[in-house]
Amino acid sequence: MDLTTDIKYVKGIGPKRALALSKLSINTVEDLITFFPRAYQDRTIRTKISNILFNQHYCIFGKITGTHIKKLSTKLSVFSANINDGSGIIIANFFRKVNPYAKFDIFATIKKDFKINSFVYIYGMCEIKFWQKQVSVDDYEIVENENSSTEKFNKLVPVYNLTTGITQKNISSALKLVLNNMANIYPDIISNNVKYKTNLPSISSAIKTIHFPNSLQEAELARQSFALQEFLLLQIILTKAKQKNVIKQKGIRYEIKRNLLTPFKKKLNFEFTNAQKKAINEIFSDMMSTKIMNRMLMGDVGSGKTVVALSAILLAVENGYQTAIVAPTELLAEQHYLTFKNMLKGLNVNIELVTSSTLKSKKKQKEILPQIENGTTNIIVGTHSVMQDRINFKNLSLVIIDEQHRFGVLQKASAVAKGNNPDVLMMTATPIPRGLAMTIYGEMSVSVIDELPPSRTPIETYCLSENIAYMNAKEEIEKGNQIYIVYPLVDESDKIELKSATQEAQKLSNTVFKNNKVALLHGKMKPKEKNDVMIKFKNKEYDILIATTVIEVGIDVPNATMIIIQHANRYGLATLHQLRGRVGRGQKKSFCILVSDAKGKIAKQRLKIMTSTCDGFKIASEDLKMRGPGEFTGTIQHGFPEFKAGDIIKDVKLIEYAKQVAIDIISKDPELLLPENVNINFLINNKYSNLSKIINVG
Ligand code: ADP
Ligand code: MG
Repeated sequence: MDLTTDIKYVKGIGPKRALALSKLSINTVEDLITFFPRAYQDRTIRTKISNILFNQHYCIFGKITGTHIKKLSTKLSVFSANINDGSGIIIANFFRKVNPYAKFDIFATIKKDFKINSFVYIYGMCEIKFWQKQVSVDDYEIVENENSSTEKFNKLVPVYNLTTGITQKNISSALKLVLNNMANIYPDIISNNVKYKTNLPSISSAIKTIHFPNSLQEAELARQSFALQEFLLLQIILTKAKQKNVIKQKGIRYEIKRNLLTPFKKKLNFEFTNAQKKAINEIFSDMMSTKIMNRMLMGDVGSGKTVVALSAILLAVENGYQTAIVAPTELLAEQHYLTFKNMLKGLNVNIELVTSSTLKSKKKQKEILPQIENGTTNIIVGTHSVMQDRINFKNLSLVIIDEQHRFGVLQKASAVAKGNNPDVLMMTATPIPRGLAMTIYGEMSVSVIDELPPSRTPIETYCLSENIAYMNAKEEIEKGNQIYIVYPLVDESDKIELKSATQEAQKLSNTVFKNNKVALLHGKMKPKEKNDVMIKFKNKEYDILIATTVIEVGIDVPNATMIIIQHANRYGLATLHQLRGRVGRGQKKSFCILVSDAKGKIAKQRLKIMTSTCDGFKIASEDLKMRGPGEFTGTIQHGFPEFKAGDIIKDVKLIEYAKQVAIDIISKDPELLLPENVNINFLINNKYSNLSKIINVG
């Protein structure tokens, strides 16, 4: 048996359970032993019945002094046992649904176990009802007497996430068998590297301890040990990638010529903010160095990342090179294309739009592709289609990825692989906490735009009823402003009763807004239709744009001052913040109105965060707190590996230590050839080969 052994060959599992386990992503022995518990039940402390004072989980031990069964309703019965431990009596309850057609006795096992005068351990939720102590039993074990050994008690019991067909016991027994039969459980990269001795247990003993700990402290140290190894591996990959970048020299030399940059700046009707200036300086100095740029530009919605990107683009174009800017949606690509055309009017620059719909037309293809290949086209604005094989560039030197959090890791990699080691600038509106940044952007330099353009007034956000929202909307329209109304779905779905954009657009334009010009925009429309609507909305031909979340990212219409978000409770905070960022993009005061059908406390709490702050950083950290790191990283970085034991919020210190160690190891042994680093090499090649490929391209 080794790590790669298929789980179905483990004794006691077999094909049927293996299938169930695969739902938990457990396919191999390695998956099983790194399937760590979600929590522990502390059954080390036995509480005397007389000492049970609060409604909470307790572990008790006593003698069974009486039992009886009671029918609570036609559907529910309860088996009750009186347990006496000398200090008091508690009633242990087992509730069972009654099936009138069942031939077997639902209480058969319990009756067999709960014999009068037997001794029993019980773990469960204790309650005091009418001076009577009761416990709803989670788990029990019958024993001979007080000194008998126990299987499930007097210890910490791990709690695993389960699926149908799999019990805690299935997992525990499989683990016991596997861990006892493996000599060398798991490759260790720290304990055998004498220099980096920590006070943490070795990986193999950590894995055993995580599943079968004697104390919570011991379990926590074991978790940290495995977490450190996870962080260290990742940091080594990131450090290696960074070093490679340092070594890679680009064959390109840029010079600030100003024949495009200066006229561009003159045409802008605003000054760059200091934060924008700083970001531009950082980007320019990267581009002008001999090393390849790999930079992340972080800035809240509306902070003005586009003009920063344009400055970088123009530096490349001034020097005769091509640039590609890639957006996550076709709609946003089209908007960028129009913005760029507009901002660069009169300058000698050729811009082309490349999306799957422009590529559909053979005629367009014939026209565009050769111009990209011969270098006539300077700036290519597009979606991920830009990266297709049939598109060849003459001299692509800069790739910009907008709203990078919307791309998968692989897509990003393929974007970057285009061209001959181009400089890469990624842009995101999702700011993230430090530990997370060190982890997921570890191989990049980071620029932050931490100020909004001046004279912006913060967007006021309210939770209101639909009617009041519409009244406010009318007032805004009378002032000459425009409105977005956002719905979660395109068409009415019979499953969930949500107001769909299409139906509501029709209804609203005949009722409340019958004197206004209402347009509809949704994901199922043809790209050209979408774009026409967007252009007309921008030209103020419509007062109201009713849309689905296709408008979530990037769309920029400064005259729109109010966004009404229907069913606001159904969106994540990040999405709400992005949607809200569609307004407040000019100097006029803007409003975001959340219409919600939420009753739950958590939903209300989430909306309250939205009404209380416009700061994307605060919202992101609240989001992270409420959703937990796994789900959160998923949304900001598709395809990033999840940590089995590491916790990017809690473990900032471990991540920092891992980073130091990684730098130290790589500086002494860049190719990881020394004997003490053999396990590192092994794990990177086996477990993280995909990731290291991806990051190395960047
Ligand atoms: P984001 O960072 O969300 O991509 P954009 O680049 O779309 O933001 O900018 C939002 C709006 O602010 C645009 O209309 C842009 O022209 C404008 N803008 C950008 N920089 C400034 C500035 N320094 N002063 C005033 N307006 C600006
Ligand atoms: Mg943007």
